Amino acid sequence: MQPDLLWLAMMKAAFPGSFDPPTLGHLNIIQRAAGIFDELIVVVAENRQKKYLFSAGERAEMIRRLAGDCGNVSVEVCDSLIVDFLQKRGVRILLRGVRGMEDFSYEFELSMMNKALDSEIETIFMTTDPEYLVLRSSYIKEIASFQGNVSGMVPPLVAEALRVKFPRKNI
Ligand code: ADP
Repeated sequence: MQPDLLWLAMMKAAFPGSFDPPTLGHLNIIQRAAGIFDELIVVVAENRQKKYLFSAGERAEMIRRLAGDCGNVSVEVCDSLIVDFLQKRGVRILLRGVRGMEDFSYEFELSMMNKALDSEIETIFMTTDPEYLVLRSSYIKEIASFQGNVSGMVPPLVAEALRVKFPRKNI
């Protein structure tokens, strides 16, 4: 088989992000993508320039537990450029989720940067399902820090992990 046909026969994609923490929006993209691609690698970013609430190990473990039912999903941590990670794994499809035009313009520029670094990489955008439109990890952390109710935004195990990070203060 020609290399290009081999690639088509086995559609592997990677879905990178911070997932700090994983939300129902992320999970929805993972589940839908798992139904399209033969293999999906969720790539948890570990960027030393960024400050995370959850360690890379904690974020990866939460996604492993949440995506456990999808047999074709694996989770890895990446502390290098995503294009280098993809090259090493032989993955050409980089999947990103978009919630609206603001996400799209950012994601579009990012895809151009990745294309400049490696012209073989193809970024594919998957639009959010409408009920997850406003879900954003940063908002969720802020709500949780004030002990707000995040149960409709994250799976129960993430809500519990947030409660541990932001314990209720006895006033
Ligand atoms: P964020 O803090 O915006 O959630 P991430 O880096 O964790 O950022 O996001 C990883 C990927 O998931 C990005 O492509 C992002 O656009 C996408 N994403 C995040 N939240 C949603 C959502 N609610 N619906 C669809 N895609 C999403």
